Amino acid sequence: MKIIAIGRNYSEHAKELNNPIPIKPVIFLKPDTAVLKDNKDFYYPEFSNDIHHEIEIVLRVCKEGKHVNPKFASTYFDSIGLGIDFTARDIQSEHKTKGLPWELAKAFDHSAPISQLKPKEEFEDLYNLDFRLEKNGEIVQKGNTKDLLFSFEQIIVFVSQYITLRKGDLIYTGTPEGVGPVQVGDHLVGYIGDEKLLDFKIK
Ligand code: MG
Repeated sequence: MKIIAIGRNYSEHAKELNNPIPIKPVIFLKPDTAVLKDNKDFYYPEFSNDIHHEIEIVLRVCKEGKHVNPKFASTYFDSIGLGIDFTARDIQSEHKTKGLPWELAKAFDHSAPISQLKPKEEFEDLYNLDFRLEKNGEIVQKGNTKDLLFSFEQIIVFVSQYITLRKGDLIYTGTPEGVGPVQVGDHLVGYIGDEKLLDFKIK
């Protein structure tokens, strides 16, 4: 499986990092070695001094898709979860300045914690999902899927023009504003609505 992640998919987040609002989705990949499941501890890597949290709604792809027709895009994902797109902001900033790719900042081991996934039918309205991240008991990020710049279906249609989607792939759909650093000892807890889905520590 692979992880497809969308950058700058909430306008207030694009603005907080001084990025333009994109006219088409910004995408990058993380390998399967980025996955961190079952609320396991995240070990702060030695190569960065500025690891940031980005809380995101995650989709699971349920069938192979190539050049997906917009009419059927919603049938290509069956479950929803909560994930964190950990980002080495120091490396990313340096690489952005130099025009280099983002992999070292985004694709490192365990950079993609993921909660359990729930069937999408369990959610009343996929475009009114409140989600949030708490750090040490304080809310640091809060979003709602009604503010997505590119919908889940638009992402699937766009990505599948270039990259074949496979069953089991995960799509990290972008983070709302409020990204910020984590430190060893921090406790991160993530919710969709009132349901706690992520709960782990930085070690
Ligand atoms: Mg992100």
